[in-house]
Amino acid sequence: MKHFPIFLAVEDRRIVVSGGDEAAVAKLRLILKSEARIEVYADTALPQIHDWAGQGRLTLIPRALAAGDAAGAVLVYAANEDDAEDARVAAIGRAEGALVNIVDNLADSAFITPAIVDRDPVTVAIGTEGAAPVLARAIKADLEERLPPVLGLLARVGKAFRPMAERLPMGRKRRDFWSDYYFDKGPKAVARDGADTLPATLSELLFDHMAAEQTPGRVDLVGAGPGDPELLTLKARKALDRADVVIHDGLVAPEILELARREAVLVPVGKIGFGPSTPQDKINALMIEHAQDGAHVVRLKSGDPGVFGRLDEEIEALDAAGVDWAIVPGITAATAAVAQIGQSFTRRGRNSSVRLLTGHDVKGFAEHDWRALARPGEVAAIYMGKRSARFVQGRLLMHGASPATPVSIVENASRADSRMRAATLADLPNAVEGLTGPAVILFGLAPRQAAAARIETIQSKELAL
Ligand code: SAH
Repeated sequence: MKHFPIFLAVEDRRIVVSGGDEAAVAKLRLILKSEARIEVYADTALPQIHDWAGQGRLTLIPRALAAGDAAGAVLVYAANEDDAEDARVAAIGRAEGALVNIVDNLADSAFITPAIVDRDPVTVAIGTEGAAPVLARAIKADLEERLPPVLGLLARVGKAFRPMAERLPMGRKRRDFWSDYYFDKGPKAVARDGADTLPATLSELLFDHMAAEQTPGRVDLVGAGPGDPELLTLKARKALDRADVVIHDGLVAPEILELARREAVLVPVGKIGFGPSTPQDKINALMIEHAQDGAHVVRLKSGDPGVFGRLDEEIEALDAAGVDWAIVPGITAATAAVAQIGQSFTRRGRNSSVRLLTGHDVKGFAEHDWRALARPGEVAAIYMGKRSARFVQGRLLMHGASPATPVSIVENASRADSRMRAATLADLPNAVEGLTGPAVILFGLAPRQAAAARIETIQSKELAL
């Protein structure tokens, strides 16, 4: 981030604009949304600026900006559409202690003006550091549509009610009250009776919430999917939005954790690679402790919580403690991997079942029904298989699998840094060499041609001969 977004206090402070043409008008449209005192310096100005001056919304000084004019101003806009004049004005602004923006000159500006979605007092500022104004406009249009115009009104009335709401205990109870207001009762009341009844709605709502019992805590065991935030389910997204505490594995992508409610406490418990992990008992105790405190806990696991996720142990602990829970399934790594190589897990005439295997279990390398798996056409997704690749290869060959059986490896499936490799069973150990991220081995599947361009083919020298 080369530009750090902040909201500047401008009420009753001066913002100075130099210039009277289109560029100045465009900036003024935005600045006029604020409660700053606005001064425009221009020899000649467009009628629009004269109109604003006539309405008392800004002061027009009909001459070029001069030394001393920027003293005490918070911001100076050089909008003269003339490089030399802009440079002169910017130098005065800087010398007199103001932050200076030169319109359409990112390099010499101390700040940039974002695209704004205005639901005052709720303001959304969108910036792309000058990289993609088109994108900023598209995001703005999207938000304009999504944020109801009534939002600003709700927030203004809500703000005045804040001292009253302090009668509710801080934390969950108060949050529940406000979300009930903003997302349910408030908009409904405005739609039904107009804005005037909002204060009454708030009082009633406060009374209801004060009378209500504290809701007990709960745990949602949520699948975070393979990494791409777009592969989250809507349910997972909602759970993150409401979470008080998020207890997450190391494999959960940072972009997904970003979606957790801002006030949510994030507790990492996962292990990275083969590093130290939080003992299962500790994870169970954490979930129970927070839920018994009344928190909505999201236990966030990569992929699907029911696939190699030690889900049962957690559920048993929650049951034993009498804590309410629910499972939110997710897209498991294998499904993301198979999609990425452009294949399907089952295919008429080839295989009517598919196995999800782990290369490792509590006792070390995991044993499976190798004979069944070695038959032609069988398909399996092998999790945690990098270190056991040689073992798996040995077992399968020993039980009669063809060395030419295709295998595909997908590392960091669904993520931007994903890598794919195509090989055969004969080359499986080579094919996993050097992979550093989580990977799924797809046994019995070769990438479809269309996906093959992005895939490394691994073939040992011996085999090529
Ligand atoms: N519950 C998870 C699996 C957890 S076990 C799920 O359903 O996906 C951890 C293993 O999952 C890793 O060793 C790796 O084999 C696999 N894995 C998890 N995320 C992955 C990803 N994005 N790409 C490839 N493999 C992944």
